[in-house]
Amino acid sequence: MKMVKGNRVAVIGTGFVGSSYAFALLNQGIADEIILIDKDEDKAQGDVMDLNHGKVFAPDYTNIHYGDYRDCQHADLVVISAGANQQPGETRLDLIEKNLAIFKSIVDQVMMSGFDGIFLIATNPVDILTYATWKYSGLPKSRVIGSGTILDTARFRYMLGDYFKVSPKNVHANIIGEHGDSELPVFSTADIGGIPLDKYIKKNNKFSQKDLEQIFINVRDSAYHIINRKGATYYGIAMGLVRITKAIFRNENSILTVSTLLEGEYDEKDVYLGVPAVINRKGIREIIELKLNNIEKGQFKKSAHILKSTLAPYFKQ
Ligand code: NAD
Repeated sequence: MKMVKGNRVAVIGTGFVGSSYAFALLNQGIADEIILIDKDEDKAQGDVMDLNHGKVFAPDYTNIHYGDYRDCQHADLVVISAGANQQPGETRLDLIEKNLAIFKSIVDQVMMSGFDGIFLIATNPVDILTYATWKYSGLPKSRVIGSGTILDTARFRYMLGDYFKVSPKNVHANIIGEHGDSELPVFSTADIGGIPLDKYIKKNNKFSQKDLEQIFINVRDSAYHIINRKGATYYGIAMGLVRITKAIFRNENSILTVSTLLEGEYDEKDVYLGVPAVINRKGIREIIELKLNNIEKGQFKKSAHILKSTLAPYFKQ
């Protein structure tokens, strides 16, 4: 298939997350070309047909087609949302082992194509699998990005906005650390329209710190609440992946909370964790180091320790 020159994305794994991402990309007109790859060829081909039928309604032209790993040669961005899901009786560690094996095979095939772009990883456990992709690919850390806590941060901003009755776009707050149970909210630097959160609370006695703590718990446990109701979460993460894609393709230098390799930042190294970072056409330009208070520092350290000890049996550190 002849490639159109421009912003090309290969999506590997067109399940709930991958197909929702392709749908959101098409609707926002972010990519010139979308290549769908999945071990279930029928699923990916069906998605290509379905998405093509919506082209008439899309804001811009996007070339969408089914592909294989050789097509990654010309891709600017490879997004991986492929993977096994946890089966009954299977531990989280079993899942890691299974997904590491899947990732080794996928990343090797992508690199064999001659791919020289940016990887964006969504499959869970995302911080572990992004680290693995960085190791397996040999690409610089700036070009291996995980979705990290971008979704958790979006959920946090939405829920705080809902609580304070302010647009989530005017809430500046981050969830950092592991995309998972050990993540933490950074209340100390959060603000609404430039007013620090603790000052905002004092303005009105119907607001309280206790409510904020409950909001964080709701954010942290969101995936469980959604999975209990509909089996999987995908729209929010798909839109988060599109947001990262847009920051890359439009060379935005936008600050987004993603999983990136720490090399001394936040006093951690050799681990991928969710932190705010500046993203442009080359990938991650730099990490933003938030000034954490002592409690937040301790929580971040704990989160990093959990990920490092999970990585240790598989990667020499
Ligand atoms: P899904 O089961 O619907 O899709 C997975 C797809 O991967 C399937 O189509 C399957 O055929 C494909 N696949 C499996 N092995 C493959 C291989 N070796 N090569 C190519 N394709 C392969 O799952 P989903 O709901 O789309 O979730 C995908 C992943 O995204 C999961 O790990 C999930 O936990 C994760 N997720 C992450 C976030 C986040 O915030 N990062 C949010 C939601 C879901």
